[in-house]
Amino acid sequence: MIILVINCGSSSIKYQVLDMKNDNEYSLLAKGILERIAMPMSKLTHKPTGKTPVVMEMPVADHKIGMRIVLDALVNPEYGVISSFSDIDAVGHRIVQGAEYFDKSVLVDDEVIRKITVCCDFAPLHNPAHLLGIEAVSNVLPDVPQAVTFDTAFHQTMAPEVYMYALPYQYYKKYGVRRYGAHGTSHQYVSQRGAALAGIPLDNSRIITCHIGNGSSVTAIRNGKVVDTSMGFTPLEGMIMGTRCGSIDASLVPYLMKKENKTPDEMTALMNKESGFLGMSEGVTSDCRDLVDRREAGDERARLILAKLVLDITKLVGSYVAEMNGVDLIVFTAGIAENNPWLRRDVSANFAYLGAKIDEEVNAVARGSETIISTPDSKVKIAMIPTDEELVIARDTMHLVEDLRK
Ligand code: AMP
Repeated sequence: MIILVINCGSSSIKYQVLDMKNDNEYSLLAKGILERIAMPMSKLTHKPTGKTPVVMEMPVADHKIGMRIVLDALVNPEYGVISSFSDIDAVGHRIVQGAEYFDKSVLVDDEVIRKITVCCDFAPLHNPAHLLGIEAVSNVLPDVPQAVTFDTAFHQTMAPEVYMYALPYQYYKKYGVRRYGAHGTSHQYVSQRGAALAGIPLDNSRIITCHIGNGSSVTAIRNGKVVDTSMGFTPLEGMIMGTRCGSIDASLVPYLMKKENKTPDEMTALMNKESGFLGMSEGVTSDCRDLVDRREAGDERARLILAKLVLDITKLVGSYVAEMNGVDLIVFTAGIAENNPWLRRDVSANFAYLGAKIDEEVNAVARGSETIISTPDSKVKIAMIPTDEELVIARDTMHLVEDLRK
């Protein structure tokens, strides 16, 4: 089954085409990104498997035209990967916010569109773009079934005392103010892969997954179900990130707004786009690679930021150990945790009191493929698992379409 996986942002369309035989047998035919939609010049980077990548620049007025350009690239005689649009069996979309409406992936229909539209209120930068993507596909491929996979769905098992804020209850009833979490697709995937690799039965397990990338979150998973996660009403809550501040004293919000004469939107931008690595480095970088290079060159600020990164992860993991009364497996994933052995080592060292022991040699070279990085006698298993959210979306889409065909 050929599945097109789409991740639409406000000015971009990321895509992958997977040929799915079953859950475990599949091949990636192509992936790419169309960026800067509705700007003077857009850029398509198309990477067909086994062929030379293509980079093209052209004006793209909107997502509908953008989707057509992506599909044209897929059927191009030179760098395409399928012979016609009719080869595409289904399209799966990543959706950032599904709130309490969705605890699993579903096929798109009018009611699903209505609920995703309601959720735009919680994810104003993301959900409207996802809806544009669904509409664009409907226009170009009207007969192809579409499915949606939600970043929040995996976290819907959290108990009320975990997801409620101690704010007046009426705001939960009136506006749905509560913790929803994010990165759920990634936490689900790496927890399942990690458990399988470590030989731990998922239905009798306590797993903590650390998704540490440009956006970062940590999740506690007991018996395959989320107990707690660090992101909240929006992805701002939790730990330090590339450009987000993570959890701060809420009193700082009105304080800084008054001092700096900022509007709510400007304050939201400050906390989401101008903080974290970028803000603490005074605008130098939001990229962990630069911070590591600078720390190695003796830069004190870079040392401070990376020390805070390790501390924030440690505090979250520690609190989740307490919430689950122990931990069997800690999993590291996403750009920063997959590529920085020192980070995995430093965080794991803080759990030596639980008997967690990292294998320094294995950890130092673990990159790109699933690896157990703890020693055989470690009381807590530790794994590095490259995340693959697109694969989860493709699998869910395949299952939904198979059911539809029955
Ligand atoms: P993600 O959001 O998962 O794509 O992760 C992005 C983050 O991963 C950035 O802060 C990068 O600096 C970091 N990263 C990606 N590749 C590497 C690498 N090879 N070495 C160190 N950090 C990396």
